[in-house]
Amino acid sequence: MDWSSLTCSASFLIILLLPLGASDDRLVPSKPLSPGTTVVSDGGDFALGFFSSSGSTPSNLYLGIWYSSIPELTVVWVANRGTPLTNGTSSAPTLTLTNASNLVLSDSDGGRVVWMTNVGAASSSSSTEAVLLNTGNLIIRSPNGTTLWQSFDHPTDTFLPGMKMQIRYRTRAGERLVSWKDAGDPSPGGFSYGCDPATSIQMFLWDGSRPVYRSTPWTGFRVKSEDEYLLTNTSAIIINLAFVNNDEESYTMFTVSDGAWHTRFVLTYSGKLQFQSWNSSSSTWVVFGQWPPHECNRYGYCGPNGYCDETVLPIPTCKCFDGFKPMSTEEWDNGEFWKGCQRKEALRCSDGFMPLSGMKPPDRFVIVGNTSLRECAAACGRNCSCMAYAYANLSSSIENRDLTRCLVWVGELVDTGRLGASTASDTLYLRLAGLDAATGKRTRSNAMKVVLPVLGGAALILMCISIAWLKFKGKDRNQEKHKKLPSDGSSDLDFPFIRFEEIALATHNFSETCMIGHGGFGKVYKGIVGGQEIAVKRLSRDSQQGTNEFRNEVILIAKLQHKNLVRLLGCCDKGDEKLLIYEYLPNKSLDATLFDDSRKHLLDWGTRLNIIKGIARGLLYLHEDSRLTIIHRDLKAGNVLLDAEMKPKIADFGMARIFGDNQENANTQRVVGTFGYMAPEYAMHGIISIKSDIYSFGVLLLEIVTGMKRSSTSHAMGFPSLIIYSWNMWKDGKAAELADSSIIDTCLLDEVLLCIHVALLCVQENPKDRPHMSSVVFTLENGSTTLPTPSRPAYFVGQSTELEQLRNNIQNSVNTLTLTGIEGR
Ligand code: ATP
Repeated sequence: MDWSSLTCSASFLIILLLPLGASDDRLVPSKPLSPGTTVVSDGGDFALGFFSSSGSTPSNLYLGIWYSSIPELTVVWVANRGTPLTNGTSSAPTLTLTNASNLVLSDSDGGRVVWMTNVGAASSSSSTEAVLLNTGNLIIRSPNGTTLWQSFDHPTDTFLPGMKMQIRYRTRAGERLVSWKDAGDPSPGGFSYGCDPATSIQMFLWDGSRPVYRSTPWTGFRVKSEDEYLLTNTSAIIINLAFVNNDEESYTMFTVSDGAWHTRFVLTYSGKLQFQSWNSSSSTWVVFGQWPPHECNRYGYCGPNGYCDETVLPIPTCKCFDGFKPMSTEEWDNGEFWKGCQRKEALRCSDGFMPLSGMKPPDRFVIVGNTSLRECAAACGRNCSCMAYAYANLSSSIENRDLTRCLVWVGELVDTGRLGASTASDTLYLRLAGLDAATGKRTRSNAMKVVLPVLGGAALILMCISIAWLKFKGKDRNQEKHKKLPSDGSSDLDFPFIRFEEIALATHNFSETCMIGHGGFGKVYKGIVGGQEIAVKRLSRDSQQGTNEFRNEVILIAKLQHKNLVRLLGCCDKGDEKLLIYEYLPNKSLDATLFDDSRKHLLDWGTRLNIIKGIARGLLYLHEDSRLTIIHRDLKAGNVLLDAEMKPKIADFGMARIFGDNQENANTQRVVGTFGYMAPEYAMHGIISIKSDIYSFGVLLLEIVTGMKRSSTSHAMGFPSLIIYSWNMWKDGKAAELADSSIIDTCLLDEVLLCIHVALLCVQENPKDRPHMSSVVFTLENGSTTLPTPSRPAYFVGQSTELEQLRNNIQNSVNTLTLTGIEGR
């Protein structure tokens, strides 16, 4: 999520003084506006006034419109972007509505005019008024109610509900959004967004004159207004998209439901088009869509004859069409795609066309007017240099104009995409060597593999902004698909490798503000990729863990899928940079809530029991139900993450070990884990088995029930550990007193006692006496009256002399190359 431009802008901009006449929503000729006064719309959503950019000395002054009802200064329109006034001159600048019905912004002493509207002289009237509407539109209105001028016709970097993004057919001219220069400088920046003047059927985002991103060309659908529902965590925004066309112009606009959050498209100074809504509970702009969404979607990123396959999730990747191969395989494999692809076999004029559905057609097409599909195909077929064509029948959507849309391509195919079943897609007919022109079938035995038609689906697209919006919707659906992707891959190659730049972008270049935690692996950051929240672990160079743990985690967890295991979405291994990308779990790790006196009340008994059961099911899956037997080796409260509904997910597989089918235990000279959770036979003799995990689970269970840390002797009434304290309480028939005081009111005593009983069975000294996870899960789910009596537990604390002794023994006797020793944490 990239809201840096917005949050930063707040720190650079200053509203000049407070509104004096806050109730006034209009200017009249006799009442100019100067710094210190604002016009506030009737309804209170927007204000018009002067603001200053504090980055310049003396600071520059601008006349602008901003949201007046949100705390963060967010300017949506600026009058004098290129001609700032200078603060600090002897007399104040003013905005005046003249008798000629123009708004005039002039420098001190009413002298130099720095900006003015251009309403014709015929409209002169002393009763004209300039009104700031509650939509953010500043209008000049004649006495008879006619709008003579409106700021909505002159957008800056923001597209608001009710604004039009239009293109006039005759002049091919249309409005563009133009970015700010930087966060604190509203003067026109290098990026712009608007309709393609050459074709008027697609949208471009430009950096100067260089295209950065291109929408799919309009296929003629979605001309009537339609409601889109954008569900957020706390509210539903109903967005109504409308595409309107008539003989002179076509335009698109959007509106939002009454009472919805403030919503806007903005072209950021860093060159992203974002769709944002203001979330008043978190006081932030939430970004629901961003274009270009990925590197791969950047204009021409995959090179000539390459295409960006957006059906590869979560990060789209470049591919060559079937029948093509990379110009340079080595560079292509290194992620450098700009040289694109070349044909494997030369084309002959008699070669036919292969339909590829679900595509975003390439750029640089020629529009052939008034054709049928057959004529369109023939027009391309006749021309031996014609590489491809695409056709749409617009009859359902356009009146009084050419009803067809035949696009043909001669030469290289640039900026193509594959959208899959997205509704914004098109069918591209690609000329391929070895295809019969009449039948479209292969003619040669050595013909190249035929491109399979990709998933079909009705193309659905809106011109202008709505194209971008639909693109976002498409992404959203893709994200859904991604959640359902099986991760039980049989090969490690199934696993998505994500480009470092994507993640750097998603985390604002690993900025401190995006950091959400720090562990043995390194720092953890929050980010957004394609609308999905992610958590990124970045291996730090001085990490106690290292490349092996990184590889272990990737290989292992990529093969696992369970609702109680945290989901690894991808990884990145580029030079020194090693990143793990996970689903983001908003309630962080269990210890952060369980051991925090101000938060532990969030975990009532019902929630705790569900957490216990969820962890048990996740561990059962690891031990018994997945294709592999996996020992986690570091199960602890810090490695259980909680999702939005407080459901637990086991995390951190960096130290996990895979066991063969009949393997019961293994020895390791590298004892890793966390003191207090380590089974004694593991800590002292390096013996790993599923029973060492069961021990850790028992400790964790006691922590969840008691709310005490495993080694918290202060709470454990002088006993050396929570285990020994619990055992003694249980032995003395006082187990009920172990329940955390903050769950007393919500707990069922039987359930609490059952959990303590199970926990004490799990921490028994002899691993063979400890239950398997299957019986633990069964007992927790069904209760039991026939549990064995636990024997005295074993415990092992990190600071004991025993441990020191052990460490010395190992260090003196083992090959130092393979021994890391005991790494307790
Ligand atoms: P160690 O690595 O020493 O076991 P740890 O488990 O706390 O310690 P990390 O797994 O690196 O370390 O996580 C550090 C913190 O980052 C966690 O405590 C949690 O608050 C946050 N965090 C980690 N993964 C996620 C995630 N997927 N979603 C949300 N927050 C996360």
